[in-house]
Amino acid sequence: MEHIKNIDVNYKNNKRYKTAKYPIRQPLYLAGLIRLLSGILLMNKKKKVEKINMEGLKPPYMILSNHMSFIDFELTALGTNMKRVNNVVNIDGYYRRPWLLTWIGAICTRKFTTDMHLVKSIRKVLQRGDILCMYPEARYSPAGITSYLPDSLGMLVKMNKVPVVAVVHRGNHLHTPAWNFNNKRKVPLHTTMTQIITAEETKTLSADDINRRIKEELSYDEYKYQKDNGILITEPYRAEGLHKILYKCPCCKTESKMASEGAEIFCRECGKRWTLLENGDLKANEGVTEFCRVPDWFEWERYEVRAEVERGEYSFVDKVDVHSMPRCWNFEALGEATLTHNANEGFVLRGHYNGKDYLIARAPLQTNSLHVEYNFPHIKPFDCVDISTENDSFYCYPTKENVVTKLALATEEIYKIKLKAAREKCMRKD
Ligand SMILES: [Zn+2]
Repeated sequence: MEHIKNIDVNYKNNKRYKTAKYPIRQPLYLAGLIRLLSGILLMNKKKKVEKINMEGLKPPYMILSNHMSFIDFELTALGTNMKRVNNVVNIDGYYRRPWLLTWIGAICTRKFTTDMHLVKSIRKVLQRGDILCMYPEARYSPAGITSYLPDSLGMLVKMNKVPVVAVVHRGNHLHTPAWNFNNKRKVPLHTTMTQIITAEETKTLSADDINRRIKEELSYDEYKYQKDNGILITEPYRAEGLHKILYKCPCCKTESKMASEGAEIFCRECGKRWTLLENGDLKANEGVTEFCRVPDWFEWERYEVRAEVERGEYSFVDKVDVHSMPRCWNFEALGEATLTHNANEGFVLRGHYNGKDYLIARAPLQTNSLHVEYNFPHIKPFDCVDISTENDSFYCYPTKENVVTKLALATEEIYKIKLKAAREKCMRKD
């Protein structure tokens, strides 16, 4: 594997936001205020927060939650009910308001990077006797099913020896899908808060056992939840934006020519159309229905990408418009650059700024997933990907149409393939 050396951007102001610092201990009045505000924000929503195996459990403990939309934070606050909670938050959550996130005791990190201080901050929170809340999928679930969960969780739990609570939200993706977060739908929300590992078990179970249990307990499927509960989504715009994740036509196999309108998704190449029914099923308007479930179509795309990688045919190159975030107060417009992605080198971003070239490389094993934003509201409302290093984040807007979901799937599949190969190599050495 080739190793490419990074060349930093030649900023006029080279100061960075310092993520390597401990969060403050949340004052109790603030925990109460957050509980109150969450209650008000959720007032008009049909919701239930159910606690399982939680009797007598007092902090410190670690919450691992699935992640679908901002409502996740509010629902978790109802569950923790005025207890002190420190959340792990990505740096773009700090945009223009680092004081606010610092004040509520959030722990800042950059997505999909190796952040050694994060481990120390987590330990600090738990040693103070408080609740640590993290979203290990690290991004909103694109298709309402479990995303990648890192294997480092098992060790993290064993190191800290505190109980683990799984918070699983149901309905949040159906209510606010990542691919159309501006148009909410009426959906009953059901959150369960379950103690899945006791303090005693963190000592007796192996890291692998812990990982297995976490994966089992954090698995979810929004479309199954919809079916099981007979939820009808009657909003006429319910399929708008769906083409952002269902980017490949299962009929003619063309990519990036899908579009959506109202309750329909269609291919601009072959003309085939599907309707997203009120019960969450997909149905071809004419002819065979290739996939009647959104997650099945999405996972088929993943297999297609994986096969492309395995055949050695996967490669991406595009001109991108780059906005970086070395600090929290503003994005720096770096202008046009070239982004390439392939199985050998991972991501390489090459650009020129302030009289000097820069190069940002992320090898396949450095990043197990990719941070994707659909209609990112902070810079300009289009799709982009964020390539982060340990001290900077690069939001790249592709020129090509509708390519960000495929980039994310390719990142995850390349990571899995490389990890497996690296482990096999290790075992051969043993
Ligand atoms: Zn087609």
